[in-house]
Amino acid sequence: MGYNVAVDGPAGAGKSTIARLVAKEKGYIYVDTGAMYRGLAIHFLKKGIRPDDSQAAAAACRDAEVTIGYEEGVQQVYLNGENVTGMLRTEEVGNMASKTSGIPAVREKLLELQRSLAREKDVIMDGRDIGTNILPDADVKIYLTASVETRAKRRYDELREKGEDCDLEQIEKDIRERDERDMNRDIAPLKKADDAILVDSSEMTIPEVVAEICSHCR
Ligand code: C5P
Repeated sequence: MGYNVAVDGPAGAGKSTIARLVAKEKGYIYVDTGAMYRGLAIHFLKKGIRPDDSQAAAAACRDAEVTIGYEEGVQQVYLNGENVTGMLRTEEVGNMASKTSGIPAVREKLLELQRSLAREKDVIMDGRDIGTNILPDADVKIYLTASVETRAKRRYDELREKGEDCDLEQIEKDIRERDERDMNRDIAPLKKADDAILVDSSEMTIPEVVAEICSHCR
């Protein structure tokens, strides 16, 4: 069994930025599970599946193979052998991932992939249900959050930096809807594990959050 750090929290809390930096400092492998849901979402989008058609999505899972690899330490996502990493981080794909991640067949599809990575390696894995469901015996569990306004502004800045046209109000609305779906779905809802450490990054800098998390890790 590897040394496992689980980081859960809502969309835009900074999980991937922070987890990547902690991984670098501690020599862990960073596993971004949201990217796996996004990889499957691309499959659904390609097939023209409506996000509310859970039967069609479940059926489409059968002909989707999501795998991950690392290129110079950076996680890559492959969908049926094609590297789709560059397509993962659009709002369209994020919304599709959020809407389809409550479908049991979707979660089952990715569960073993996530657990097997944690068995073999020292990992810091981020997502929504890592501490509660995927790795209930993780060595360290972090629940990383921030206010909705802070998260929306961060995502807005991130998209603007990439040159994408976006609207702050729309992003805030999407984040509220995503929180609502992630926290209230029947299967593996986003919630803080009882033994997770709560870190609210609203008023913290990135180095402060990294230092706080590293202080709990081996
Ligand atoms: O974290 P990210 O925004 O990339 O995740 C995309 C979507 O995938 C989330 O909105 C969430 O609904 C879903 N997800 C999940 N469980 C995880 C990781 C992501 O349900 N462990």
